[in-house]
Amino acid sequence: MRATMINGTRDVSVEELPRPELEAPTDAIIKVVAACVCGSDLWPYRGVVPVKEPRQMGHEYVGIIEELGSEVTGLEVGQFVVGSFITSDNTCEICRAGYQSKCVHAGGVGTAQAQYARITNAAGTLVATPEYPAEDLIPSLLAASDVLGTGWFGAVEAHAGPGKTIAVVGDGAVGLLAILSAKQLGAERIIAFSRHPERQALAREFGATDIIEERGDEGVAKLKELTGGLGAHGVVEAVGTQESIEQALRSARGGGYLTILGVAHGVQISGRELFSRQVHVVAGGAPVRRFLPELIDLILERKINPGRVFTLDLPLEEAPAAYRAMDERTAIKVLLRP
Ligand SMILES: [Zn+2]
Repeated sequence: MRATMINGTRDVSVEELPRPELEAPTDAIIKVVAACVCGSDLWPYRGVVPVKEPRQMGHEYVGIIEELGSEVTGLEVGQFVVGSFITSDNTCEICRAGYQSKCVHAGGVGTAQAQYARITNAAGTLVATPEYPAEDLIPSLLAASDVLGTGWFGAVEAHAGPGKTIAVVGDGAVGLLAILSAKQLGAERIIAFSRHPERQALAREFGATDIIEERGDEGVAKLKELTGGLGAHGVVEAVGTQESIEQALRSARGGGYLTILGVAHGVQISGRELFSRQVHVVAGGAPVRRFLPELIDLILERKINPGRVFTLDLPLEEAPAAYRAMDERTAIKVLLRP
């Protein structure tokens, strides 16, 4: 099968690899229908996270079940499925509390930019659609597997709802979909930080009511101006840098909520800063599985169109170009078709 490999900094290739096989009775093999490049894939691509040896890439996927391990229940070969980037049994105490990303049996997905992928914990991870979805809904279903599920978690944990002002730091796919999520959850005002015209337009389409182009202290000052000096009720951070996390923390009002979705790299926040802000903070990989059934329904009913974040659609063979487009920010997000 064909599969995307990262070999080093800014070195991605598509290679011939053996097709994955079932390894545990709880595994599934899926034929990938669509995968994509994530903002977090850029950390190794840019060399921020060193690539010690060539490895496969990809953790966002929709596909068709090819094979099921003997212990997988509730799924059938041939079904179209959406999964999340962390696999979970969906039965342990942590899963039942809605934090499947911290499942006691959690597994990773890292081989989805390929023709086939092995998914662990299949029964607790994959959610089947009632039938094969309309072709034009596939980008949105793919978005549900990570960027939408993650943005949704961000908005839920930021307590987006009627009467609330939500600020979103980061205008990548996750940030933009946190805006869509906050809107869908009923937020009254949604303030997006963005200085990129194309992304500002999509932010507005998704429900942003205000755009702030300034960053850092100036950005925070602008946000305070818009919120009567108080700050936002809830803030979603979707970048993961020192500057963005500080900006997000300072944008929340006292007693407010902050969700940190960006994978933090080299970020230092002092205990004193946290103490003085008095904000509820949650950080981490989103428990996308918690939201998948609801998100799939919203997509199939055409109530939301998160697939709009895919501004480039390429065959898998062009994965190197997909990474370049993400790196150079000429595309918001790139879909790959095996
Ligand atoms: Zn679990």
